[in-house]
Amino acid sequence: MTTVTPGTEFVEMANGVYARLHEGLTNAGIIIGDDSVLIIDSLRVPSFARDLIADIAHLTDKPIQFVIDTHSHWDHAWGNEEFPDSTIIGHANCRTEMLDLEAVDWWRNRVVTSGDPWAEEAKLVRVTPPDITFEDSMQLHFGGHRIDLRYLGRAHTSGDIFIHLPDESLVFTGDVAQDGGVPFMEDGYLRDWVHTDDRLVELDADRFVAGHGPIGERPALEAARDFIAELVDTTALAISDGQDEATTATNVTDRLSERFGGWRGFDRVEDSVAYAYRQMTDA
Ligand SMILES: [Zn+2]
Repeated sequence: MTTVTPGTEFVEMANGVYARLHEGLTNAGIIIGDDSVLIIDSLRVPSFARDLIADIAHLTDKPIQFVIDTHSHWDHAWGNEEFPDSTIIGHANCRTEMLDLEAVDWWRNRVVTSGDPWAEEAKLVRVTPPDITFEDSMQLHFGGHRIDLRYLGRAHTSGDIFIHLPDESLVFTGDVAQDGGVPFMEDGYLRDWVHTDDRLVELDADRFVAGHGPIGERPALEAARDFIAELVDTTALAISDGQDEATTATNVTDRLSERFGGWRGFDRVEDSVAYAYRQMTDA
């Protein structure tokens, strides 16, 4: 048996289509084509991308031709520089965010001061945006699979895309929807997210691979939609009721805890509601 990076595992979702799950960290996708390989997300810093490349070498010796960025966030796309010979594909807004020096500095500062094992390495990352971008959709035919890249509106960032394999009833959701996990929201677009989620659940997908956490099935995709909708709806009600930010954050978190209190990352919900409150009262 070959050894892969500790904490990771490959799960074959369809013929030549893999999820590479990384316990507690960021997942990736791998699709093996006739002559080359396509990956979904390059991971947090270059050493994580190099581990991914080494692990893929256990599956195939074909070169990695395409890297698809689900979105601009550091833990998904700051390994891009390790793929100088590959074509990097992402949404136009993903590219814009990666070229936004203020946004990149904000993230770099968060990561560098986190005390995490990758903090030092984050100082040196050369943030490398996609070479090919699109606005609404793009279709690839690769390894016998039809792969639809779909932009359904702003959500977790301004440039989240979904990698949908309709014939496999499978979608890679980045950080927009997880199975039983609260996504990071504090540079998201909360009201838009609700509409994007409504479009996401319309895709033909029985299973999904999120950027974090386990592989999910359709009910979990719908629950992820319900979570954002309930957060936004109850925050909007509190605002129209004249509640202040702190009261809203407490009350909405209490309400959400009834159904979602056991989710990974629920401890960040109160701050997220406060962020949603500021965003929704700013409009
Ligand atoms: Zn993210």
